[in-house]
Amino acid sequence: SQSRQMSMDARSVSEKLRNSGLLRTQGLIGGKWIDSYDKTTIKVNNPATGEIVADVACMGVRETNDAIASSYEAFQSWSRRTAGERSKVLRRWFDLLVAHKEELGQLITLEQGKPLKEAVGEVAYGASFIEYYAEEAKRVYGDIIPPNSSDRRLLVLKQPVGVVGAITPWNFPLAMITRKVGPALASGCTVVVKPSELTPLTALAAAELALQAGVPPGALNVVMGNAPEIGDALLSSPQVRKITFTGSTAVGKKLMAAAAPTVKKVSLELGGNAPSIIFDDADLDVAVKGTLAAKFRNSGQTCVCANRVLVQDGIYDKFAEAFSEAVQKLEVGDGFKEGTTQGPLINDAAIQKVDSFVQDAVSKGAKILLGGKKHSLGMTFYEPTVIRDVTSNMIMSKEEIFGPVAPLIRFKTEEDAIRIANDTIAGLAAYIFTNSVQRSWRVSEALEYGLVGVNEGIISTEVAPFGGVKQSGLGREGSKYGMDEYHEIKYICLGDMNRQ
Ligand code: NAD
Repeated sequence: SQSRQMSMDARSVSEKLRNSGLLRTQGLIGGKWIDSYDKTTIKVNNPATGEIVADVACMGVRETNDAIASSYEAFQSWSRRTAGERSKVLRRWFDLLVAHKEELGQLITLEQGKPLKEAVGEVAYGASFIEYYAEEAKRVYGDIIPPNSSDRRLLVLKQPVGVVGAITPWNFPLAMITRKVGPALASGCTVVVKPSELTPLTALAAAELALQAGVPPGALNVVMGNAPEIGDALLSSPQVRKITFTGSTAVGKKLMAAAAPTVKKVSLELGGNAPSIIFDDADLDVAVKGTLAAKFRNSGQTCVCANRVLVQDGIYDKFAEAFSEAVQKLEVGDGFKEGTTQGPLINDAAIQKVDSFVQDAVSKGAKILLGGKKHSLGMTFYEPTVIRDVTSNMIMSKEEIFGPVAPLIRFKTEEDAIRIANDTIAGLAAYIFTNSVQRSWRVSEALEYGLVGVNEGIISTEVAPFGGVKQSGLGREGSKYGMDEYHEIKYICLGDMNRQ
């Protein structure tokens, strides 16, 4: 059968990866691969087939405390290396990530489900942060401040914050790690990474390549398993000076509160509720393509996903028709299958959530144009879905759908669009489609969001700042701004300069 054929492919891939040494199941502490101290494991599943890909170490407080201690020790020497030396190590890591992009892509598809082409794309995107910060390491400048009295000289240094705890989600198993670890290592920080227990394999493979590149023992540790235990250990340790988290808003809030007793720096990349706003004057083709990419990439499981498609009166019906036509062409299937453009969702809970949002909308008067139910492939596949006449009282206009469902919401004026778009606690990404330069600027300024795409549906890049406002987070990742998050500013006053 077709599904047996697909799972055989996945199995032969995992066999090959095991032989290559990139499929690891132990945690990394102090440069050594180790089992959990009580030998417990957790299973990692292939979401497309339900098959168990690996049994990985299930770690907790004790392993995390040892990882923190080794990162603390490694910090003493890594932070004192020259920027040029750190840069060379990162550059070698980048080269290795690129050299292994196929295998890393396969690992991502195996444990996360996205189509292989998209997964290999994630590797390129993830690796780009390492390359960028290998360069940025050499451009950390201080300042000399004109003094306010002639006998003093005032200097400003940037210094690494120290040991960093990085907690990451399953939807981008590589890029959400490199976007944090790149600037951290470049700055001279050391890191304890806790990947999602659903997708630890990519993290472990990336860490293996980091070791090969010459990242010293302890500078990068990976512990995974019991998330609340590992989180508590990272947050309560006075040696961990910064927590950087990407994941749900609910967990982000907990972590921020838990960081208070030791006054850690906190960066949060949380959930979004992105509007994609199509104005009457938009180029229909551009709006369809852009919104399709923003909505359906990674089966709709991205924080910058178009969660609400706001369409102006005059173009509503035309857009609904053209968009549905484009969505209908998506190929649902196993990510290893040639031609697949929409993989499975991460697990059953995700399917149930998406389906309940759809049913809620339908019960309140929305109309399904396409899809609207589980896919006949079974497992965690969901049909690409377009729903029209969605209104603000439906759950899907308030909460992240995190699935392949596009709700079309109607609006009349530019002011209406801005009001509806901003009527949410989230503020990560927004998209607008219009051919008016003035409107692009006006609406971009009025949107309470951290990133705005104008006539573009995919805008994240290593060279630009990424992050949210309101309850979508704190701080920025990527670009020169992302580097600042790993620095402390030190002011030095040289006194009595006139003394002979
Ligand atoms: P999640 O919050 O459930 O998990 C994220 C990470 O936190 C995982 O590693 C998990 O093990 C860990 N975690 C869970 N409970 C914890 C606890 N009590 N203590 C410490 N760690 C804990 O989120 P998820 O389901 O993995 O990811 C999906 C969410 O992430 C979505 O809301 C999405 O919008 C968001 N996301 C945001 C961005 C961004 O940059 N803003 C990027 C990707 C995903």
